[in-house]
Amino acid sequence: MTTMDDEGLETEEHSAGGLADWLRGMRSALRGEHDADVPCGGCTACCRSSQFVHIGPEETDALAAIPPALLFPAPQMPEGHVLMGYDWQGRCPMLTDAGCSIYEHRPRTCRTYDCRVFAASGVEIDDAGKEMIAARVRQWRFDDPSAADRRVQDALRSAVRYIREHGDLLPEGSEPVTATRLAVLAVEIVEAFLDPDWESQPLDVTAQAVRVTLGPRPPQPGSGAGQPPRDP
Ligand code: SF4
Ligand code: SF4
Repeated sequence: MTTMDDEGLETEEHSAGGLADWLRGMRSALRGEHDADVPCGGCTACCRSSQFVHIGPEETDALAAIPPALLFPAPQMPEGHVLMGYDWQGRCPMLTDAGCSIYEHRPRTCRTYDCRVFAASGVEIDDAGKEMIAARVRQWRFDDPSAADRRVQDALRSAVRYIREHGDLLPEGSEPVTATRLAVLAVEIVEAFLDPDWESQPLDVTAQAVRVTLGPRPPQPGSGAGQPPRDP
């Protein structure tokens, strides 16, 4: 189905599925239980959006598939964590006209990236260079909401609001530095906000629930798609 966006540009809608189902899948992908299952179609926007791709030292398969010259140490992360950059057009060097040239060996960051996280959380991705992702995000349509979907949507929006207003209460190293990190963090802490009465609890009770969910955090790369998803 074709629609027009706010600027009068033609857009195409893509089904994002049910919101509650999506949240379950996204959370298990972030836990590393499976890859994100995004119906990307022919889209490669996130591979062409000037994103640094984080690769951990345990990702030996991905590291073996990527020329070492394309990798550099990830700032503020332990030794062995690296980032892969992008070319002057913002394209990942592993991207070809036929798609990802190392698809079967792609980094975890790519495996967990799911741009529906922006549509689900309501976080605007307005960073420079991310316009193609933002355009794709506007095309997602979640199914007509069930009661469970509405509960999830309210909880995700509350989690985003909490992070914005009380970022100082998050464990050290969790503070989001990008729109992607903010949206993913909301997914990670959403359980604390599924109780519709969470706002009637003292702030420190909520903060403690969030801390327990997140646990101790390693330093996060400043960019990063997914685990952070590609930040992107
Ligand atoms: S921007 Fe979204 S739809 Fe496009 S390739 Fe990336 S995850 Fe898939
Ligand atoms: S390695 Fe990741 S960012 Fe690069 S082309 Fe493959 S999926 Fe895209």
